[in-house]
Amino acid sequence: MTDSQVTPKELQPQFLFITDLDHTFVGDADALRELQALLRQHRQAYGTKIVYATGRSPQLYRQLKAEQSLINPDALVTSVGTEIYYQDPSDVADREWSAILAPGWNREIVAATAAEFAELVPQPESEQRPFKLSYYISPELAAGILPKVESILQQQGLKVKLVYSGGKDLDFLPEKGNKGLAMQFLGQHWGISPERTVACGDSGNDIALFSVGSEKGIIVGNAKSELRQWYAQNRTPEIYLAQANYARGIVEGLKYFGFL
Ligand SMILES: [Mg+2]
Repeated sequence: MTDSQVTPKELQPQFLFITDLDHTFVGDADALRELQALLRQHRQAYGTKIVYATGRSPQLYRQLKAEQSLINPDALVTSVGTEIYYQDPSDVADREWSAILAPGWNREIVAATAAEFAELVPQPESEQRPFKLSYYISPELAAGILPKVESILQQQGLKVKLVYSGGKDLDFLPEKGNKGLAMQFLGQHWGISPERTVACGDSGNDIALFSVGSEKGIIVGNAKSELRQWYAQNRTPEIYLAQANYARGIVEGLKYFGFL
């Protein structure tokens, strides 16, 4: 065992940890405390990067961070992947990422189109962002309305994605505005390979994390039906469906993949 001092690539301890917050990282206070302690140690020892990727705006993120005593991330992805911050999100979002999102997006046309559908109820003003417009709609109405809205936007030459999550939240996003591409952008930024990257989530807006490339994925045991359905049809060895819920499911997955 002493012949080689070279650490094989798969044994390098540093990794990129990226997690959704609501109902994934956050949800079980005791488990969250344990997971945060493990991650903080790993960051200190090996330079592991911690990233939060949330559907929340910077404003609602700050509320949650204070309520749950979340440790400081190395980067923060807010608004379903459309904004990246390296510091506290009081300053401007990463301009390089904004420039990648801009083609095919027109906020005014999207807002005007959505306003034509009374079934789409606007979310609070704090959740309407430069590259995200958000509404509420019930699952019963969504099936009929979403394809119509989508085709109107296409006819106007826009490349806009509609993401429906948790049976109520509808987001309009730029073509490249998702958590998965934001994750890859950060991996390249820090020079961490997809093999050393692991993403965690529980709902529809996390599917992009699991489907964008060869990064590892942990679906927590309490995942919502749209993500479970997606997993049933897209099983791969890179995606692990945990037994345990919330942060306990994340620890289970990190051990399964050998990150911890
Ligand atoms: Mg969530």
